[in-house]
Amino acid sequence: MFLGYILAFFLNTNVGLIRMQSLPKEYNFTEIERKWQQKWEKMGIYHYDWNDKERIPFSIDTPPPYPSGELHMGNVLNWTYFDMVARYKRMQGFNVLFPQGWDCHGLGIEIQVEKARNIRKRDVPPDQFRAWCIETVEKYIAMMKEGILKMGASIDWTTEYKTMDPDYWRRTQLSFILLYKKDYMYRGTHPVNWCPRDETAIADAEVDHIKKEGTLHYIRFQLEGSNEYLLIATSRPEFIPACVAVEVNPKDERYSKYIGRKIAVPLMKREVTIISEESVDPCFGTGVVQICTYGDKEDVKTVIKHKLPVIRLLTESGKISEAGCKYAGLYVNQARAAIVADLTAAGLLEKSEKIQQEVGVCDRCKAQVEILEVKQWFMKTLPLSEAVEKNANEIPWYPDYMKNRLIDWTRALDWDWVVSRQRLFATPIPVWYCKNCGEVIVAQENWVPIDPRMEKPRIGKCPKCGGAEFNGETDVLDTWMDSSITCAVHAGWPDRADWKHLFPASMHPSGTDIIRTWAYYLMVRHLALFDERPFNSVLINGMVLGADGRKMSKSLKNYAAAPEVLNKNGADATRQWAAGGGATGSDIPYRAQDVEYGRRFLVKLWNASGFTSNLLADYKPDPKADLDLQPLDKWILSKAENLTKKVTEAFEKCQFNIAIEDVRNFTWHVFCDYYVEAVKDRLYNPNPDGEGQAKKLAAQFTLSEVLYRMLQLLAPVVPHITEEIYQHMFAESKGFESLQVSQWPKFNSKLVDEKAERNGDLLIAIIGEVRHDKAEKKLPLNAPIKNLIVYAASDDTAKVITSAKGDISGTLKLSNIQVLSEKSSEGRQVSSTEVHVKVEY
Ligand SMILES: [Zn+2]
Ligand SMILES: [Zn+2]
Repeated sequence: MFLGYILAFFLNTNVGLIRMQSLPKEYNFTEIERKWQQKWEKMGIYHYDWNDKERIPFSIDTPPPYPSGELHMGNVLNWTYFDMVARYKRMQGFNVLFPQGWDCHGLGIEIQVEKARNIRKRDVPPDQFRAWCIETVEKYIAMMKEGILKMGASIDWTTEYKTMDPDYWRRTQLSFILLYKKDYMYRGTHPVNWCPRDETAIADAEVDHIKKEGTLHYIRFQLEGSNEYLLIATSRPEFIPACVAVEVNPKDERYSKYIGRKIAVPLMKREVTIISEESVDPCFGTGVVQICTYGDKEDVKTVIKHKLPVIRLLTESGKISEAGCKYAGLYVNQARAAIVADLTAAGLLEKSEKIQQEVGVCDRCKAQVEILEVKQWFMKTLPLSEAVEKNANEIPWYPDYMKNRLIDWTRALDWDWVVSRQRLFATPIPVWYCKNCGEVIVAQENWVPIDPRMEKPRIGKCPKCGGAEFNGETDVLDTWMDSSITCAVHAGWPDRADWKHLFPASMHPSGTDIIRTWAYYLMVRHLALFDERPFNSVLINGMVLGADGRKMSKSLKNYAAAPEVLNKNGADATRQWAAGGGATGSDIPYRAQDVEYGRRFLVKLWNASGFTSNLLADYKPDPKADLDLQPLDKWILSKAENLTKKVTEAFEKCQFNIAIEDVRNFTWHVFCDYYVEAVKDRLYNPNPDGEGQAKKLAAQFTLSEVLYRMLQLLAPVVPHITEEIYQHMFAESKGFESLQVSQWPKFNSKLVDEKAERNGDLLIAIIGEVRHDKAEKKLPLNAPIKNLIVYAASDDTAKVITSAKGDISGTLKLSNIQVLSEKSSEGRQVSSTEVHVKVEY
């Protein structure tokens, strides 16, 4: 049974004298972690080998983060996930690509600059504003990068890119041009979500829905040529000047008779028609609804369906336009107050009541989002919805249920993606318009990168009218246009001919919060550009909550600053929190005690390794020797094999919490608590005869093999400490430059010995019983025992116990042990691991 093990062992080992260096007494994580971060970088073991066509590539679609300042615990969770996968796959023999970019553009940075300098973007020349944005981004990138390095993330830094660099513009602009040629990009006047504070169009994905208190006003709309009025309940009376129709449900007997009649718009000297609309809910409000352009998305649908006119009530800065007559120039909330006052004075306001309502706000600045009809660039995404759903269903998601977030989002979309933004700090849209005839000139593929705000198109005259003057597009691209091509960019598109070797990405890791943006946009863009899905699996992480289970925030005093946590506890302890804090995909609270537990585990591992290295000081593995493995040796070797199976399966399914829990429990409670204790005596006081030496060698072999196995299984989660121990104890014998490029252990079912495990469990139960007895009698654990009587349930059990007498006596400081076969006196079944002991001190 164990011959296989011995062979496997010697095949993996440079036979000869293993020189073990003993470990320093103190585990100094600061020094160890810094040292290995530098050494690994020098070794270049994280570099993806672009020329290697032998190993199978494994590419991680690392999200390029928004540089937002210092690293936070959510980033720590993300990068620990990515890094565990990268390290595990590297040990599995894959050629791993773990790239890193920075998603620099966007409203976030513009708002930061505006706030920090107390300006609005229009107060300074655009170049100056952009320079300040770049400065801010560079500062934030440096801060975040320091944190990512400190976490020990095994990134290939030769791949680093910034989406604000012209070289990246080139890729984004090229993708725009290709999509325009494929008829996926179009310019049109459509209702879009508009942030009045940031004065830009935004996509559905950038609208957050929040609950807040509002007021529902019941307003009298006078029927034409009568004293009758219909009551309309609305929370947005400021839209009355843009009322274009009133609708009722034709099945609603209260109102169906009014369909087709005219009704006066309050305070306005005009009338609109009462129309029939089946989607009106008779139970909501009064059952009569005003259609305004545009109070909400429902209004948009109704206007299109009934071909109603559009009154453009709001300006781009969120003020009432000329169409609002006397209210022109007021901000929305000022107009609301003025109109409510006028309605009251005119006797048209029946009542007002408080309600809880859901409103859409800008996800960057939290201003209430309005709907404006403006000329914008769009990407046709709705025709791709079916393909998105199909591809989402065809690939594994970890955890599986998260795919529904993408599918539900895709199904709920009712507008194409508006990709133009009225901002400055972004990739320019590579387009000009003929001043004379308005012809759209899209840049040619070899013009990019290009900034049409600064440069002319590289053609002499307009192909349509021959005009020679052009206006460069001043709008810029949504920042998601930059980051939604990462799968292709990471693979080397468009510069490497062989980019398809790395495409689709093997794994797309993402947070629950960006499934509707990043995962979705990646899908539609790559499907449109290359007719291929961008990734072959998805790994989802949850959000990090405060210890109290609420969203982590400085104001709630439940905030943990990642640099502080890392400085205080080190990367390996912090990474254990990230790996073990909860099931993959679930939200994970940050609990300082989890990190502290992680640190205690590292100290335990360090001390146990140091102790083991002393026990192995004179270890001379002998390939020719027949190992005289004892019951507990066989027990732990088999358990280590089963552990390998479980941990490997857990990593394969990205169940990091299961992987780390299993290997920590094994290390602490199987290896340290029992095995090391049990073999001490065999190693310290071996019989000088050949049998004693053979038993000692068997214990040394087992200690060495099992410790090495634990280090390997732990290496993806706690890379620094395991590397340090490996270099001291195993580098010479195993021969790998780094534990990180050692071969992940392959589970070998032939090495599992269930009988040996059962027998070992029995011995461990005896040791446990005696320890329990000592504890009950308040005796120290090493108190000597005069006589131990073990009652075994059967003769077989008695034989097993007898065969391990030596290890049991040594562990428990026994002078004598008697094993008696106990035929259960009451005739009850005694299970094989149930033991009865009598201890005599
Ligand atoms: Zn905003
Ligand atoms: Zn022209």
